[in-house]
Amino acid sequence: MAEANVNVVLLGAPGSGKGTQAQTIKDAFGLRHVSTGDMLRAAVASGTELGLRAKAFMDRGELVPDDVVVGIVSERLRSEDGGPGWLLDGFPRTVAQAEALEKAFDGRAGRAVDRVLYLRVSPEIVVERLSGRRVCPNPSCGAAYHVRFMPPKREGVCDRCGTALVLRDDDRPDTVRQRLAAYERQTAALVERYRSLGLLVEIDASGSPKEVGDKVLAALRPEEGKGGVRAACAGGKAGDGQSPGRGGKRGG
Ligand SMILES: [Zn+2]
Repeated sequence: MAEANVNVVLLGAPGSGKGTQAQTIKDAFGLRHVSTGDMLRAAVASGTELGLRAKAFMDRGELVPDDVVVGIVSERLRSEDGGPGWLLDGFPRTVAQAEALEKAFDGRAGRAVDRVLYLRVSPEIVVERLSGRRVCPNPSCGAAYHVRFMPPKREGVCDRCGTALVLRDDDRPDTVRQRLAAYERQTAALVERYRSLGLLVEIDASGSPKEVGDKVLAALRPEEGKGGVRAACAGGKAGDGQSPGRGGKRGG
């Protein structure tokens, strides 16, 4: 596996297989997977000023506001500057967040977004994927199944503990359609922005995880003559020779 110094934003509605593809990208390119949820939890746990601000909102069950999220993301990405590139998952979600991210890295060569992958799926497929999920409601078990892709041995019953499986409210077909529409509404302007910047690659994510994974990796590999994402070349940017010690720290 080669480490790549490329910064990727991964977009995809619930049910697009984003989590699986994030893992595929991470495994193939050695990118640091930066998930907003994990990052918020880490900031809260480490008790930084921004973490404490985030915690106040989370404790009240409210969404953490943009400026706090952007602050936490930037702090984290800057603290690890000089390593391999990153894969942002779940952030940015809005144009305001995208702009704040770019501003935070203004003037830092090689630290802005290189490529945005947008996993697209039809509502029918998302409904099939999500509404087929079943979970074990036993709090000490929590096993997850899928009626089509990972069925339990006995229909409707948990293999591990024998509890009757349930369909989560979030996974009901009507709710899934609403979630999908809400995601598309929320991200439409962001997608347009990345498209107009020439960073967007739309990927048909209706196939199997492997099929989609192949397309995802192809979109990130440097292509001959097409100005693909730069390869994992040490140093990276012209001009680094004048500032030794800035570009070449890697693999730590
Ligand atoms: Zn169970």
